[in-house]
Amino acid sequence: MGAPEAFTRTTDVGHWIGGQPSAGNGGRSQAVYNPATGQVARQVLLGSVDDVNAAVAAASAAFPAWADTPPIRRARVMNNFLALMNQHRDTLAAMITAEHGKVFTDAQGEVTRGIEIVEFACGIPQLLKGDFTDQVSTGIDNWTLRQPLGVVAGITPFNFPCMVPAWMFPVALTCGNTFILKPSERDPSPSLFMAELLKQAGLPDGVFNVVQGDKTVVDALLTHPDVKALSFVGSTPIAQYIYETGAHHGKRVQALGGAKNHMVVMPDADIEQTVDALIGAAYGSAGERCMAISVAVLVGEVADQIVPLLAERARALKIKNGMELDAEMGPIVTRQALERIEGYIALGVEEGAQLVVDGRGHQVAGHEEGFFTGGTLFDHVTPTMRIYKEEIFGPVLACVRAKDFAEAVQLVNDHEFGNGVACYTRDGNVAREFARRIQVGMVGINVPIPVPMAWHGFGGWKRSLFGDMHAYGEEGVRFYTKQKSIMQRWPASTPKGAEFVMPTSK
Ligand code: NAD
Repeated sequence: MGAPEAFTRTTDVGHWIGGQPSAGNGGRSQAVYNPATGQVARQVLLGSVDDVNAAVAAASAAFPAWADTPPIRRARVMNNFLALMNQHRDTLAAMITAEHGKVFTDAQGEVTRGIEIVEFACGIPQLLKGDFTDQVSTGIDNWTLRQPLGVVAGITPFNFPCMVPAWMFPVALTCGNTFILKPSERDPSPSLFMAELLKQAGLPDGVFNVVQGDKTVVDALLTHPDVKALSFVGSTPIAQYIYETGAHHGKRVQALGGAKNHMVVMPDADIEQTVDALIGAAYGSAGERCMAISVAVLVGEVADQIVPLLAERARALKIKNGMELDAEMGPIVTRQALERIEGYIALGVEEGAQLVVDGRGHQVAGHEEGFFTGGTLFDHVTPTMRIYKEEIFGPVLACVRAKDFAEAVQLVNDHEFGNGVACYTRDGNVAREFARRIQVGMVGINVPIPVPMAWHGFGGWKRSLFGDMHAYGEEGVRFYTKQKSIMQRWPASTPKGAEFVMPTSK
């Protein structure tokens, strides 16, 4: 692969309302940085309550015709969008690297995982097929169908600016809803670009809208009476706030939160495969993945074998501007996030954990202002430490030692988060018991980052998910539709008169 073309736009990133770019009337903006250089690259406009009202009005006006459009025709628009996403995959990946910092090949992978949801949504006619029972009672048939909700909204985090919006809108739109996306203000460009591609794909104006911004926009969406459902992905405190406030305002809500994903390493695990898996899963995307492994639970004597190998590999990570093709890890998204991560490393030392590799203050030649930190490795972390309990969301791997399988499982099950987990072992029975007993939503057996494919659905347990429906897959279709049951009789004879007993099958 030749060097990818960098994303260099300098003009403001605005909204997309009613099928047109819009500057809105918020009057506020915020800097968007290139984390590799530490320089302000462009500004994102921050929307106002009026901008949300305009987007909801556009989406409400577009809803009746779009909801009435046959699912196969909605799927055809999604098919056109699929072709455009494939065509512009590298443009999107370069935007992601320019604003998020993750390495370009990882950004390409993110776009591909988003495209997979689009592929899933192209099959919507099959997914919306209802149930039918002939003759539930004499002369009566009963069937169910699923209808769209209306205007629905998505609020998304910085760490997957293309994939996480794509967990939501392809399914919501093909189900017949109209959509308002509020992307992260740290990396707003991919959403606006996808809005342009949807228009090129033939999506009618007003069906998909983007309002950039912060809490002002989120609160306006949470309280607007015409927004019927909200999908949120982000940190746990905000997820809980979104869930509670949205429910209070009568909305359907799915709110995916933070994580602290463990990998349990059994003494019989293949050491080389385990080290590869831990290094990729802990330091890939600088640990800024909700499915990153941030805790290695090393069972029995395996710890003394694994820790020195991890240390060697963590020190050797190729940390560079993500546009350099041999980069393994890029910068952190913002200076504040970098300071938070390095603050946690200082805290870990204070708490008595053994700092094996210290990534703090990492410098990349030619990028002295960039938001870089190195890979950090702690050993002898204990469950009472804050660096164990709290989400650091950076390239910091904490090793915890457990005496046996039961203690390792207990540790995972006692943690407040339950997003992803992995177990490395060569024992099928251990693997089976692990998968059955573990209190976590997504489980990998010798798979470090078990992000489910498009048709399986994504969601954690405990404080990693508020609401009962996972994102995308069939649960996504259920989330974005409401079921209607229709019972029908076409009587051939004269009426029998009113019936006062509960109808039963005759
Ligand atoms: P965040 O919670 O700070 O922001 C998420 C969204 O909420 C953004 O659009 C932001 O503008 C908005 N927001 C922030 N503060 C708000 C407030 N006070 N009121 C209303 N809205 C507000 O999260 P982030 O830093 O962008 O993303 C990282 C977090 O997301 C991590 O905790 C990570 O684990 C989590 N995450 C979870 C999943 C998952 O599937 N469970 C996936 C990706 C990221």
